[in-house]
Amino acid sequence: MRKITLSVCKVYRNTGRFRLHRKKTKKAWKHFFLEEDEPDEFNFGTEWVDSITAQFLKLKKLHKRWFICIGCRQWFYSYVKNARATPECPYCEEE
Ligand SMILES: [Zn+2]
Repeated sequence: MRKITLSVCKVYRNTGRFRLHRKKTKKAWKHFFLEEDEPDEFNFGTEWVDSITAQFLKLKKLHKRWFICIGCRQWFYSYVKNARATPECPYCEEE
């Protein structure tokens, strides 16, 4: 099953509805991802990871960026690996 990393954050382990944390509360890495069940069907999921896994996930993390298509002048967003990536315009593809 394919997992798409959205973000890796350091968060308090026992976050709940309480706004204040106890001083002894430790922060841990949490992995937010999309999991592909079937092609083009994604489920949002989270999991706790150790710090080494967190660094690795950060490297392959995808960035949500907005693009404007020169052809049809429509804005669209896409998940890209780096700033130089130029994804295909979803509107032009339909034609
Ligand atoms: Zn376009």
